[in-house]
Amino acid sequence: MNRQKTAILQAVRKLRSHPTVDEIFAETRRSLNSISLATVYRGLEWLAEQGLIMRVDTRPRRYDHQTRPHSHVVCRYCGRVEDLRDVSGAEAALVEAARRAGYSEVQPFVVLSGVCRACRYAHVRQADLSAEEGRGHDGG
Ligand SMILES: [Zn+2]
Ligand SMILES: [Zn+2]
Repeated sequence: MNRQKTAILQAVRKLRSHPTVDEIFAETRRSLNSISLATVYRGLEWLAEQGLIMRVDTRPRRYDHQTRPHSHVVCRYCGRVEDLRDVSGAEAALVEAARRAGYSEVQPFVVLSGVCRACRYAHVRQADLSAEEGRGHDGG
């Protein structure tokens, strides 16, 4: 593995929480100033093919330092990605459903979408403010 790929791998491992390509690019440049975004893209694809990192199929695409396959949940407001824990029962059920549909070599790992805690609180605060404005001054 050359110096650039090593630096990219180190960046993914250092950032940990499912970084985007842009975040990995910024982190890699801290140790390898001259690296280009295209090199980072190619390096990430190569590292994923080698099984050293895992690609998470979100938009924007993210990478995971954890290579053991697992399911994720994505916030549709801020794009934060987290691992889903203790879902092997659900994953087994998905594999079974896919087998019944005639599929083999099924990857049961899913990406769920939702609203994270931080965004939910922000949203609730926003809703409270609007409700107060709506109440006006002439009510009882
Ligand atoms: Zn969020
Ligand atoms: Zn993950």
